[in-house]
Amino acid sequence: MHGERSACLLFAAARWQGDPACPRCEVVGKHYFHNGRLQWRCKACRYVFSVTSGTVFAHHKLPLNLYLGALLLFSNSVKGIPALRLARELNVQYKTAFVLVHKMREAMLIQRDESPLDGEVEMDGAYFNGHIRPANKKVNRIDRRKAKYQRPDKRVVITLRSRGTKGCGGRRTLTFVARSENQISVAKLARKYIAPGTTVFADEAPAYDVLSTHFVTRRINHQEEYRADDGTNTNTAEGFFLRLRRMQYGVSHHFSSMYLDLYANEAAYREDNRRRANGTIFAQNLTLCAATAPSREFSGYWQGNHRVVEQLV
Ligand SMILES: [Zn+2]
Repeated sequence: MHGERSACLLFAAARWQGDPACPRCEVVGKHYFHNGRLQWRCKACRYVFSVTSGTVFAHHKLPLNLYLGALLLFSNSVKGIPALRLARELNVQYKTAFVLVHKMREAMLIQRDESPLDGEVEMDGAYFNGHIRPANKKVNRIDRRKAKYQRPDKRVVITLRSRGTKGCGGRRTLTFVARSENQISVAKLARKYIAPGTTVFADEAPAYDVLSTHFVTRRINHQEEYRADDGTNTNTAEGFFLRLRRMQYGVSHHFSSMYLDLYANEAAYREDNRRRANGTIFAQNLTLCAATAPSREFSGYWQGNHRVVEQLV
């Protein structure tokens, strides 16, 4: 119980700056603390709450230490952590680990900074889940380029990535999922997430033609070159996609299209925080989870509560 108490205090410090706030009536104060149960009773509305009430870890069934352990393993991994590995490290069921890791991804996405990017921004798209495995026999193989043979769950991740100081790669990365790379989606994202006066870099895909109406635009034709003589390139965005693909191939093995937004944003978070110390990332993740309301999509996941609509642009 001693370890549990320190875990509770660590979580409380990440959640509240000073005295706890009641999750029901929001009154901040020295609420009555029940030492044995590690619960507070609100002095205003008498509501009894724990340190996880009203957060992604609400109604937790396992010791708090275990959630902190999960957060630590999740934070320390470079390309994400598979649920199977998390289950083994923590000695919990696969189903528990699966839900836990998805809740952490969800908190990351809900809490992400969506303020417009500025300076120099690269915009690009990459397709996921589009691979069609060739049939065994040559006679049965189809022309995989034809529209009618495309997989229905094929999606594009569109990224907007602002550049850091020269030679330092990306500064901030925003990701979105769409059915295809088209002008409507590109215009919608650019208007909302790119500040006026920004220089936008994109490749030769016609979807990005719309950018020039609002921004100074620099284009690179990837059929010809990856970096133009004047320095124009989208290599920072391409670099992000490389890492996202490696996360898919090497760690998760499968990105369900339904949750592609969560995976893409997790990769973006890891990319943007790549130079921070692991202690900082752990503290940051703990704060994100404490600031996020109980998951609507992953609470009761194995009892049949699933996301039904994809989060598309
Ligand atoms: Zn209260």
